[in-house]
Amino acid sequence: MEQSLKSKIWLSSPHMSGNELTYIEEAFRCNWVAPVGPHIDVFEKDLCDYTGAAHSAVLSSGTAAIHLGLSLLGVKTDDYVLTQSLTFVASANPIKYLGATPVFIDSETDTWNMCPVQLERAILACLKGDVRSPKGKGEPKLPKAIIPVHLYGMPANMSAIMEVANRYGIPVLEDAAEALGSSYAQQSCGAMGKCGVISFNGNKIITTSSGGALISNDEELIKNAKFLATQAKDVAQHYEHSQVGYNYRLSNVLAGVGIAQLEVIDDRVAARRSNFEFYKAYFSDIDGVEVLEEPNSKYFSNRWLTTIKISSERAMGITRDDVMAALAFENIESRPIWKPMHMQPLYSQYPYFGSGVSEDIFETGLCLPSGSNLSAADLLRISNVFDELFQNCRYDQRKVAVNF
Ligand SMILES: *Cc1c(COP(=O)(O)O)cnc(C)c1O
Repeated sequence: MEQSLKSKIWLSSPHMSGNELTYIEEAFRCNWVAPVGPHIDVFEKDLCDYTGAAHSAVLSSGTAAIHLGLSLLGVKTDDYVLTQSLTFVASANPIKYLGATPVFIDSETDTWNMCPVQLERAILACLKGDVRSPKGKGEPKLPKAIIPVHLYGMPANMSAIMEVANRYGIPVLEDAAEALGSSYAQQSCGAMGKCGVISFNGNKIITTSSGGALISNDEELIKNAKFLATQAKDVAQHYEHSQVGYNYRLSNVLAGVGIAQLEVIDDRVAARRSNFEFYKAYFSDIDGVEVLEEPNSKYFSNRWLTTIKISSERAMGITRDDVMAALAFENIESRPIWKPMHMQPLYSQYPYFGSGVSEDIFETGLCLPSGSNLSAADLLRISNVFDELFQNCRYDQRKVAVNF
């Protein structure tokens, strides 16, 4: 068959439940076509019920939620904010919006998320004034916030991170943009720190096309989030302002999409976890390819994306790029792991605490197609590519070769 005839298999594409249009029509019927309305209230309540967070504010994007969350934690010019280097750029950019200095932390091998040991090293360096930014040597001071990320849906090592954060009294904003449906020790990702961020972008586990949320157990914080997200209007008949606000609310129309999507999230998590099990079983037989597993039973990943690491020495010289190219030839999308922030032109001048873990993951890691709408035929097409590529890497082949 010609390559161009095969339909594209996406990394992670939107997956509608069928109920979205009902809620959209309802919004139009009531004429709540605005960033205010009944769907917003329902979606916020549903999100609290699902995550166990006491309060939530739905917003125009996950990035807006991080920006708002950091400003509510009092982050200002020249403050230090610690985040993991191995992440999507949106974890770090809001630190810059506020004029603060991002300090990047390496990952641990178990979860690929923030290493608690490097985190504490960075805090101590900030306290000593030992961190350098493009502006020069920093003032000795306590970091204003810590942003661990639950990357690809894998929960960060939250008990160790919270222990360090609490010991120094630094608030934690969890970037759970990719992790709705994930939990650590039975607590939802996003609901363990001072506040947490969820994204409903088109490629996430559920989507409102674009959108996000800030969740928290702190009522005052979410009240203030809603105030700042609607241009910080003081109580008055006329428009009175004493603070800088933003226009960050989610549309009531899109909140309708969110309600319908959240109704089916359990199915979406189950489908993505089942993709993971498929890949895990497939690669159990292949030398040199490892899927990232949950380290122990405390971790429950929504398996937003299944990720693998390829050791080309063990896999007969096959590299990550070879796997990507072979999949692309069959019109199947895959993607390298996020390039760490400390390796980015934008952020290479900023402080970084690490020991090469995220670099290695970046160089050898790959995200595989993981959508909840992948069919059995799609998975077969993917495994056919692997069959050909890894035919000499099977453990049983090796045994045969040795016996022979
Ligand atoms: C998607 C994402 C964001 C940003 O969310 P948007 O809704 O796209 O603004 C932030 N952090 C991570 C880790 C993400 O994957």
